[in-house]
Amino acid sequence: MSLSRSAFAAAEGVRALRDVGLFREVRSIDSPQGSRVRLDDRQVLLFGSNNYLGLADNPMIRRAATEAIQRWGVGAGASPLVSGAMSAHVQLERELAAFEGYGGALLFSSGYVANLGAVTSLARLAGTDAVIYSDKLNHASTVDACRLAQADVFVYDHCDVEHLRWGLNQNHGRPAVIATESIFSMDGDVAPLTEIVHVARDYGAYTIIDEAHATGTFGPEGRGVVGTEGLEHEVDVVVGTLGKAFGTVGAFICCSCELRSYLINTARPFIFSTAPSPALVGAATAALRMLSNRPEMVLRLQSNATLMRHELAERGADVARDGTHIIPLIVGDSEAAVEVSRRALEAGVFAQAIRPPTVPVGTARLRLSVMATHTQGEIKQAAKKLMDAMRGGASGRALASSTTASVA
Ligand code: PMP
Repeated sequence: MSLSRSAFAAAEGVRALRDVGLFREVRSIDSPQGSRVRLDDRQVLLFGSNNYLGLADNPMIRRAATEAIQRWGVGAGASPLVSGAMSAHVQLERELAAFEGYGGALLFSSGYVANLGAVTSLARLAGTDAVIYSDKLNHASTVDACRLAQADVFVYDHCDVEHLRWGLNQNHGRPAVIATESIFSMDGDVAPLTEIVHVARDYGAYTIIDEAHATGTFGPEGRGVVGTEGLEHEVDVVVGTLGKAFGTVGAFICCSCELRSYLINTARPFIFSTAPSPALVGAATAALRMLSNRPEMVLRLQSNATLMRHELAERGADVARDGTHIIPLIVGDSEAAVEVSRRALEAGVFAQAIRPPTVPVGTARLRLSVMATHTQGEIKQAAKKLMDAMRGGASGRALASSTTASVA
């Protein structure tokens, strides 16, 4: 049977991606998302998931989801503006707002669309002449949100407050919105939020802080960078996801009650998409309560991160000994990164190669993320296997010459 025109064109497109080492494939997992997963009929250690606290398969969270299904069913029916917000959603919004220290919270079906809503609505609120200032390494959802906002965008160098200030000076007098992650998704570094907030104050800019990787992971109570640094009264919008440390799926925006009303009326991803499933809202509520009652989960994640960083550095990796639970193991070349990831998997450690456009050209990497539920033994074992893979396998074969692997 001959291929349709679109199938033929797609096959060509895929071949072009393969040629430059940028072809992506979805791996099939035959188990819950634990610290170990079943992949290709064997158990492997997972070091690339955002299920940071291990709540995605936690028995209490599973039970909460089951109970929520029994009580509320599986679907939310429509956008809350159309079929109403179920009280499960209202309750979670209340508890999230209290946890984050804001007047209100609004649920979205994913972090991707929450960012679309936050950025487009705040740009509109700022005024027709608004400029959005976006960190160079912001997540694709913020990049896409900037495009959708149809505002002028100034991309400042990564975490460079002076460059941000320079950009604001260039457009002085125009309304401004600053958007940045607090913990960056691919490098795991922490934005200088206090300084950014000071700059925002100087220029009267609105601020949107994406805490997707910081909620539930940063600070002694997992309140993220904004909460831990006491910036709730300065930051206009915090975006958080339920799909990472909370172990479920969905997202939320925390802000003032007034801004929440504005978002309900202007944020198109809220207006035009179905609310998160009540089952997941029930699970996320249980996860939030568990986080508040058991902050030791966060401390465990942080000490696991320190252990992994130490083990990698001891074996010659160019990683900082202090830092968050997201650890980039930079390889450089895309095909070489895929090869390192393949070798690690062969040895029993699953950590995906992350390549452009997700990360800048020449910085392809294994993006490692530890979980609170990894044991110390698993972390030490994984660090050894990963560094063997970086060096070309346990046998010590050298990596292809194209790589710039950060191994001493
Ligand atoms: N923001 C950041 C910084 C992210 O890394 C991600 C997803 N990895 C998102 C937003 C989107 O979140 P979600 O997966 O809930 O759509």
